[in-house]
Amino acid sequence: MGFNDLIGQEKAVKLIKEGLGSGRLNHGYLYYGPENRGKYTFSLAAARALNCSQEKEDYCGTCLSCQKINKGVHPDLWVIEPQGKNIKIEQIKKIKGFSSSPPHEGLGKVVIIKDAQLMTLPAANSLLKLLEEPPSYLYFFLTSPALDLIPPTIISRCQLVPFGRVSREEIYYFLAKNSFLEENELKGVAHLADGSVGKALSMISSPHWKDKREKYLKRTLKVFSGKEGDIFAQAEELANEEELFDYMEFLESFLRDCLVYHSTGDKDLLINVDFLHEIAAEGNIYPDKLLNMIKEVEEFKKNLPLPLNRRLSLEALLVKMKG
Ligand SMILES: [Zn+2]
Repeated sequence: MGFNDLIGQEKAVKLIKEGLGSGRLNHGYLYYGPENRGKYTFSLAAARALNCSQEKEDYCGTCLSCQKINKGVHPDLWVIEPQGKNIKIEQIKKIKGFSSSPPHEGLGKVVIIKDAQLMTLPAANSLLKLLEEPPSYLYFFLTSPALDLIPPTIISRCQLVPFGRVSREEIYYFLAKNSFLEENELKGVAHLADGSVGKALSMISSPHWKDKREKYLKRTLKVFSGKEGDIFAQAEELANEEELFDYMEFLESFLRDCLVYHSTGDKDLLINVDFLHEIAAEGNIYPDKLLNMIKEVEEFKKNLPLPLNRRLSLEALLVKMKG
């Protein structure tokens, strides 16, 4: 175990390693970027590295300290997350007690503030005081979906580290190493994960993810071949679908695949490569028609109707796709 197991965030790794190596770690780090990019996972890894008894600029994952962090029982790690809608000043004030004595075991005490953008103004001001004059052994790791959601005063006290998209190839190799997926599934998941390792992992950790994809495929093929009567039945069924957005994403990616495959014949460009057979069989839809269908689905996704109007909007969408 170690930083090598985390993929796609070389910049964050480099900064932590440099800090640990030179003994000049920053007291505040702000990790920002969209959901599921591994910001919190990385903060935990940094906490392990600070306290690992086996490694200097990395972590082993197996020493007593690493194990305690894995189990969430390390006395020198404090994790703050929103309670309800925000992070309150009382939560920040508790850091004072936590940080009043030096670390019990490791090199440093670590405070992780998850979704720091949800701090109330008093909470942020209270944190600012701690960031201005932290004890030598206290380190903060903040996460936020975007930089501009954090007060500038906090930003100026932190080292800023963007968490970007992870490339498809990296996700593919990560999954190949860490899962039992078959080649086609690996490719499919790596595409669908949309640059997020977290999304890839949550996809494959759901025991029904394959069933779900099969269900989505069946539905889509019905949309392509259905008669009017079917359309209305389908609209009704879809209106009750809990994960309607999810299905629409699938539908859109399937339509794109049909367009790409029938204009290039290159299966390496497909997202749903596990459904190559079905995509290849849809060769009789004109590209213009496919483009229109994609536009309609995109439009529908943008204005995903409220539950009450869903059925009618879906009927309209399906009729348009048919027509
Ligand atoms: Zn360790």
